[in-house]
Amino acid sequence: MIVAGNWKMFAGPDPVALAERLAGVTGVEAIVCPPGVSLAHCVEAGLTTYAQNVHWENEGAYTGEISPTMLLGLGVAGSLVGHSERRQYFGETDAGVARRAKAALDAGLGVIACVGETQEERDAGDMETVLRIQVDAIRDTCGPHERLVLAYEPVWAIGTGRTATPEMAQEAHAFVKSLLDRPVLYGGSVKPDNADELMAQPDVDGALVGGASLDIESFAAICEAAARAKGPSDQTRGVAERES
Ligand code: PEP
Repeated sequence: MIVAGNWKMFAGPDPVALAERLAGVTGVEAIVCPPGVSLAHCVEAGLTTYAQNVHWENEGAYTGEISPTMLLGLGVAGSLVGHSERRQYFGETDAGVARRAKAALDAGLGVIACVGETQEERDAGDMETVLRIQVDAIRDTCGPHERLVLAYEPVWAIGTGRTATPEMAQEAHAFVKSLLDRPVLYGGSVKPDNADELMAQPDVDGALVGGASLDIESFAAICEAAARAKGPSDQTRGVAERES
């Protein structure tokens, strides 16, 4: 299970205090995605740190962008790509998202690639078509890379307080996995009080958390919910495998 906190363009919590709190949480890989100015602070605090975006070139005349090798140089472990806010406000395309993901993976970074439909697309019955187009672009460029994780984030649930039901999340995750067999995180108004039932779904492999990741206790509670949902059975399986 993976729980990633997307701080967006907010200062976020104190990295040292967050690292101390998360040190007591086991059975989950916790990741923070702070703004660029806080990447080094988070790395220094010992947090597994991802950028919120990454360019496809390692250097060049691309004002405002950060390259895969620059992130590696900071000790950053990976990057989000294709967040709906990047697609919506900064014109990022499926092809560009796939290029960013490929460059990051080639450089040795992990990638969380975000996909998801808008309310209009869901209402029109186009959820699967939209997900297929977005996931196919990533799959055709990156393949089922071992450091690639997907995040299903219905746009209508991001920052709105409207969460997909566990059944809706499960249905979309199973569909995404049928296209590209990689772990899929759920994102969209995940909070401590809805995390348990979302994380319990068989094809939900963790969470991408926005607003609730800005508070240390609520982020830690979501990490604990993820660990509770699948941690014990994984640990049991590990023991069984070692004993066989
Ligand atoms: C996000 O930023 O990816 C997100 C899911 O935000 P929120 O949890 O606030 O909906």
